[in-house]
Amino acid sequence: MPKRHVIVVGAGAAGLMAAGQSAAGFDPATPGAETILLEKMDRPGVKLRITGQGRCNVTNTDPMREMVAHFPAGEHFIRPALYRFSNESLRSFLAELGVPTEVQRGGRVFPVSEDARDVVAALVRWVTRQGVTLRTESAVEQLLTEPGRVVGVRTVDGRVYRGDAVIVATGGASYPSTGSTGDGYAFARSAGHTIVPIQPALVPLETAGQTAPRLEGLSLRNVNVSVWIDGRKETDAFGEMVFTAFGVSGPVILTLSRVVVGALRAGRRVTLAFDLKPALDHPTLDARLLDEISASPQRHVRNLLKELLPSKLVPVCLDLVGLAPHRAAHQITAGERKRLRVWLKDFRLPVTDHRPLREAIVTAGGVDTSEVDPHTMASRLVAGLHFAGEVLDVDGETGGYNLQAAFSTGWVAGRSAAAG
Ligand SMILES: Cc1cc2nc3c(=O)[nH]c(=O)nc-3n(C[C@H](O)[C@H](O)[C@H](O)COP(=O)(O)OP(=O)(O)OC[C@H]3O[C@@H](n4cnc5c(N)ncnc54)[C@H](O)[C@@H]3O)c2cc1C
Repeated sequence: MPKRHVIVVGAGAAGLMAAGQSAAGFDPATPGAETILLEKMDRPGVKLRITGQGRCNVTNTDPMREMVAHFPAGEHFIRPALYRFSNESLRSFLAELGVPTEVQRGGRVFPVSEDARDVVAALVRWVTRQGVTLRTESAVEQLLTEPGRVVGVRTVDGRVYRGDAVIVATGGASYPSTGSTGDGYAFARSAGHTIVPIQPALVPLETAGQTAPRLEGLSLRNVNVSVWIDGRKETDAFGEMVFTAFGVSGPVILTLSRVVVGALRAGRRVTLAFDLKPALDHPTLDARLLDEISASPQRHVRNLLKELLPSKLVPVCLDLVGLAPHRAAHQITAGERKRLRVWLKDFRLPVTDHRPLREAIVTAGGVDTSEVDPHTMASRLVAGLHFAGEVLDVDGETGGYNLQAAFSTGWVAGRSAAAG
């Protein structure tokens, strides 16, 4: 049987996995395909190198049935791919490539070396061993089609590559300096696919006033953040966050950002409420405040607050609650103690905007998954055309879910494109 020819566009997480699986040949009935991997940048995996702040949170240890719940878009579509190439499969695969992984807080999985470059280097060595031809500085500009099927691609330098199958793994449209500039959406549209409008997901938020800038750089580990839309509580999440020069970021904020972006775009009013003492209910917190006051009644309010808050938060708390820093603790009135308690449990910041798409960790929207077979990643409209990774309308929360989705869909697309 003559070998099939597979073209993979984009050497990110999904494209590297797809190309290697396509070339590998995984059983005697389906020999590996002649596979070419075309990458626009001068080296593969540029975005992969900056993931997890350079440490690369490759996946999460969630059991599979729980993992799908971490995909706000594409939950049902992604399920078969996750089951075929799971988080455990990914960890074993990386270990075989010489990149053992370890589990950190929240089930997040990282390479033991905590160096994303090790993941990229191992994948590149692996695809090379499988016989994949990797061409960098080869930006694809057009899909070549004949009625009902794809026959190849053309690169910007005018080269034509012909193949039996094309896998579009061009990523989303955020962090465009990494090469992910949304080209795949245009390719898919030219082949007749619907593109679900793209917008930032997992994106930092901008907040009103000077509170966030005053707190810039302060990270909070155990905070519960609620999203209030037009005065009604919509959702909440617990975890880590950080204040920035323009507002707020960090895992818990990124997770909530999807809801916030949707509300802001619909012209609704969004406020974040921070519970800085989520482990204490109101009566327990009040008792704690009374204990602190009676333990040192002459202590200045400012020093009392240092027992309860990171020091950077103390002056902000004093200003917002309206307490003089040098008053003695025993002079705090019952009303002031109540205001302080309410602030500690429900400190609010209005959201003015979200950061732009280019600063989003992930792009929401993309190729409409109803037009793609979840078992093969093949287009239901054009024979031979496949999609993998973030170009699809699938996005996960923070915690390793997006890379797992890219690897799983890449794995499925590579194998099915090679099998024909
Ligand atoms: C700062 C940051 C940190 C992140 N950290 C994590 C994390 O720790 N864990 C996690 O799960 N997710 C993380 N993500 C998300 C994750 O990186 C992406 O979801 C994932 O990389 C998507 O993989 P992909 O292969 O689909 O796309 P990409 O990795 O974006 O790869 C697409 C590739 O296609 C190439 N390309 C594009 N157009 C063309 C063209 N016309 N011709 C040829 N090549 C082309 C690009 O140059 C690029 O190399 C992070 C994202 C960012 C921005």
